[in-house]
Amino acid sequence: MSSIARRLGEIRQRIARAVQAAGRNPADVRLLAVSKLQPSAAIREAYAEGVRDFGENYVQELVRKSTELADLPDLRFHLIGHVQSNKVKSLVGRVSAVHSVDSVRLAEELGKRAIAAELPLAKCWSGVGPAVAATSRQLPVFIEVNVGGEAQKSGCEPSAVVAVLEAIQAQPSLRAVGLMTVPPFFDDPTLSRPYFHRLRELRDAVSNAASLPELSMGMTLDLEEAIAAGATIVRVGTAIFGERPARDVPLSREGP
Ligand SMILES: *Cc1c(COP(=O)(O)O)cnc(C)c1O
Repeated sequence: MSSIARRLGEIRQRIARAVQAAGRNPADVRLLAVSKLQPSAAIREAYAEGVRDFGENYVQELVRKSTELADLPDLRFHLIGHVQSNKVKSLVGRVSAVHSVDSVRLAEELGKRAIAAELPLAKCWSGVGPAVAATSRQLPVFIEVNVGGEAQKSGCEPSAVVAVLEAIQAQPSLRAVGLMTVPPFFDDPTLSRPYFHRLRELRDAVSNAASLPELSMGMTLDLEEAIAAGATIVRVGTAIFGERPARDVPLSREGP
């Protein structure tokens, strides 16, 4: 068994145990395999083990991998990293969900571009909501919230969530599905707990679980805490693919 296959087995067990401990329904928590900076061959290995949803942080890397993996028609890429409005154009038609919408401007740009996009039905992602109908191919988007108020992190302020939500809802090509966050980093995962609860409370304050069902939160170190707090999608990289190689693309070519 390859190490990716073995690690995937372990992570699925971790998720299953956390779901059970929280008394939740296993169908309500999905795994997003974060493949940033990992080679397409590693994605193929995880795909062979049944993984269909992969998270990428950088637009150019996502575009390149979607070309390299074009023979896997039901593989879905989710953008989870910060995106500049001028990069949105190359994304649409290749991305099945965007977790990192954090401004009115980005929502408008994404909405404008997504109208022209034709994502094959096999690449449409419906999350915990109702299955995607062939007739309504809206791009699912999450509002990224900087719950820790960290200066260097992307994500909007909690007070801006309503404005970003309304901007998304004003775009017929987009569907707001939930909130996403990356809490401040702690070695002790229990310290992430209040941030996960804050994201959920924020969702409940601006909407409800029926119309904004998704909470994208939890990574390798703290997925148990996130699931206990209501995560519907956990974003796991290192525990599946091992340590990431260093990023060698000059920042000037691809932005942060
Ligand atoms: C890299 C990354 C992850 C995965 O982190 P791991 O600790 O490797 O599991 C999850 N979410 C975002 C936004 C990331 O950038």
